Amino acid sequence: MTVYNFAAGPATLPDPVIKQIQEELPSLQGSGMSILEISHRSQMFDKIIDTAKQDIKDLMHVPDNYHILFFQGGGTGQFAAVPMNLATKHKRIALLDSGHWATRAGDEAANLGVTVDVLDSTKDKHYQELPHMPHAISASDYDYLHITTNNTIEGTAYHTLPEHGDVTLVGDLSSNFMAEEYQVSDFGLIFGGVQKNLGPAGVTVVIVRDDLVNHVDHIPSILNYELFVKKNSMFNTPPVFAIYATGLVLKWLKQQGGIAGIEALNKKKSALLYDFLDQSTLFHNDIKKADRSLTNIPFKTTDPVLDKQVIAEADQAGLKNLKGHRSVGGLRASLYNAMPLAGVQALVDFLYNFEKQH
Ligand code: PMP
Repeated sequence: MTVYNFAAGPATLPDPVIKQIQEELPSLQGSGMSILEISHRSQMFDKIIDTAKQDIKDLMHVPDNYHILFFQGGGTGQFAAVPMNLATKHKRIALLDSGHWATRAGDEAANLGVTVDVLDSTKDKHYQELPHMPHAISASDYDYLHITTNNTIEGTAYHTLPEHGDVTLVGDLSSNFMAEEYQVSDFGLIFGGVQKNLGPAGVTVVIVRDDLVNHVDHIPSILNYELFVKKNSMFNTPPVFAIYATGLVLKWLKQQGGIAGIEALNKKKSALLYDFLDQSTLFHNDIKKADRSLTNIPFKTTDPVLDKQVIAEADQAGLKNLKGHRSVGGLRASLYNAMPLAGVQALVDFLYNFEKQH
């Protein structure tokens, strides 16, 4: 039975990448040593990290005045790192509250003594649509504006970025990183864990404009952008395996036509599922159409007991990890880059048959 993994992250990876990891695991490049064993100070790893950086640069068309950094600590680590490194002048940031992860980012900044102005929130609409800029903002008031480009739990995404005037835009791209195209130059800083679209858990990519990398006193070295720029992300032992595996996914992504190619496929995949849900009399997705995510699609029936039955029967049929986040309930299909169209077709076929029987 073919298994399709719809988990929200860590998530499905491309089959050829898993195969390559398996083949290379005992001996990397004929060295007699595994990637799990080699030093991060070795020439082999230098090449791996520099190639991964270059491939990110190529794929996202990263301008020369940006740094590409690798951290540990996940998106959650960056909820602290970003305000510590960037909220230094006004100690005040703006935030659009689009859901759970935007709230978490705001809470972490506030914990660090930064004033967080929530400019708009769609909490009262159960985050089923995106918040928007209620008025113009200025860099004379804010160190940056934080947005979550794709809301993993709620299933919304900014396909067009909010107007942010001259205020630095910070984007948490965790769940649509390289799944759809954004202009890096629209952001001062982008971050995201790779464990959804780009690799295994363990590494977080930060892309930051050079003028935002400044000396800041009294912040932990492990979250210090200036140090990580100086040390090529090797201030301490980096997650060697995760960077290696991400490097393989980046090569695979280039073969899929880069981000433009994968975005076209992601649009096709998500349209297949949304079109089914929109005509279904049993299942429904309640997200405002213009705001729907390409990568995370929550849906449900009108009966939580029936939802559970769908999840259990889907699991038996090889369609794994469809349980929705506990705050939303129902089901969620995460259709990240490595999910093939055939996986979405299998899901739609299953849901169609389930509906016929109920
Ligand atoms: N931001 C978003 C949008 C996420 O989906 C997640 C994780 N699901 C996080 C941040 C937190 O990332 P991590 O688990 O890597 O700390």
